[in-house]
Amino acid sequence: MAVFEYAPAPESRSIVDVQPTYGLFINGEFTDPRSGESRKTVNPATEEVLAEVAEADASDVDDAVRAARRAYEAVWGPMRGSDRAKYLFRIARIIQERSRELAVLESIDNGKPIKESRDVDLPLVAAHFFYYAGWADKLAYAGLGPDPKPLGVAGQVIPWNFPLLMLAWKIAPALAAGNTVVLKPAETTPLTALLFAQICQQADLPPGVVNIVTGGGATGAALVAHPDIDKVAFTGSTEVGRQIARTVAGTRKRLTLELGGKAANIVFDDAPLDQAVEGIVNGIFFNQGHVCCAGSRLLVQESIADELLDRLKRRMTTLRVGDPLDKNTDIGAINSAAQLEKIRALSAAGEAEGAQRWSPPCELPARGYWFAPTLFTGVSQTHRIAREEIFGPVLSVLTFRTPAEAVEKANNTPYGLSAGIWTEKGSRILAIADQLRAGVVWANTFNKFDPTSPFGGYKESGYGREGGRHGLEAYLAR
Ligand code: NAP
Ligand code: MG
Repeated sequence: MAVFEYAPAPESRSIVDVQPTYGLFINGEFTDPRSGESRKTVNPATEEVLAEVAEADASDVDDAVRAARRAYEAVWGPMRGSDRAKYLFRIARIIQERSRELAVLESIDNGKPIKESRDVDLPLVAAHFFYYAGWADKLAYAGLGPDPKPLGVAGQVIPWNFPLLMLAWKIAPALAAGNTVVLKPAETTPLTALLFAQICQQADLPPGVVNIVTGGGATGAALVAHPDIDKVAFTGSTEVGRQIARTVAGTRKRLTLELGGKAANIVFDDAPLDQAVEGIVNGIFFNQGHVCCAGSRLLVQESIADELLDRLKRRMTTLRVGDPLDKNTDIGAINSAAQLEKIRALSAAGEAEGAQRWSPPCELPARGYWFAPTLFTGVSQTHRIAREEIFGPVLSVLTFRTPAEAVEKANNTPYGLSAGIWTEKGSRILAIADQLRAGVVWANTFNKFDPTSPFGGYKESGYGREGGRHGLEAYLAR
């Protein structure tokens, strides 16, 4: 089969100014950390150091929480919803105006392809702020009573896979509801959160309403444990989520957890196959598979398995892996050396346990962290690659014969974040979706997001919902 060759189409880096060093964003200003510590963030596609970023310790976190408390009591809490909305609309518009800059920065700090940061992450980030800006003066209609009140100060900890989008999911509803926030980005991807801090300054957001404390796990732990936090919102691994649940147990803090997943993408024998192949590819190779709701387990009906896998392999040979800033790139860099190691180890376990591994021929750059799109067939339910979250571009294929078996296998996981169903039959979509223990079920599509739609998990994928009217509930007291 002829594969088209593309001329390089690089997006320019010059649109974004990366400072050599960054302080903490506390009370509306960038400040040097009391800790005196910093750590480097790198471009995972080249291993080039991008910047030195402050590492907040417990005393820095305390400063940020105090600033957030003052802003909550003096300014943001008492402010009329329609006035808060003006700030949020302003932030949303600045995000749109500066979206190219934000997209390039996201791609160089995270490794994701520019076509995704430009066409998916950034439009969704702006949409999230616009959506919650619209709620700020309508909280009485959120279904939470006639006069719902903010909780106070929110401590928010986010992961590295969608750095700016996870920030938007956390900050937009919190602010719309009248809370102030202290947010800790992931240590490998702090830069767009720091640019967002500059956008808060540009929008004249009152000091202390948004505070950004950069650092590693210890910084996150200090934030979660701070006694003057009213609400903790966490997105990340189930393991860290468990620790956080232990920390806040027995306190007045409210908690929402958005954790890992091991979604089943179920293809029935009457599915439109080419469309399903696109959905499978999107489900597991979008964002290098660094997606909590990735369709990492393909469940395909036995009678069409050979045909579907042929088409899927053919499609995978056309995926372009490489420079995230090239507009033709489909799969960018793995976010960190540590994550690459985890993907390699789990893939090796897949082979050792007897599954068959396949990747298209694919030349990987010499520097940086890379992993070719990978498919495992002959996977059984006991294999680690069928049970554990790989969080990389690795698909495990299992087969089934009857709808009941599909449901049984799909639900056979400690997680319950998302699922996909592919079939021409509307009645089957409804019947199967009803039996799946997953927070989101997509039908004849995958990885579709919208700020109006709630997102969240069952079982070990966490509790609470983000997005939509439901997302306000986590930030309001009745
Ligand atoms: P992680 O290790 O749990 O880290 C998430 C965040 O928590 C990071 O900012 C991390 O800081 C911080 N952290 C680490 N230890 C902490 C502690 N003891 N107390 C408080 N904070 C702590 O997860 P990750 O590897 O970055 O992200 C991948 C995971 O996130 C996957 O399991 C994925 O499924 C999940 N995820 C879920 C959703 C969802 O909506 N359900 C969305 C995206 C990702 P450092 O960066 O310094 O480690
Ligand atoms: Mg980085």
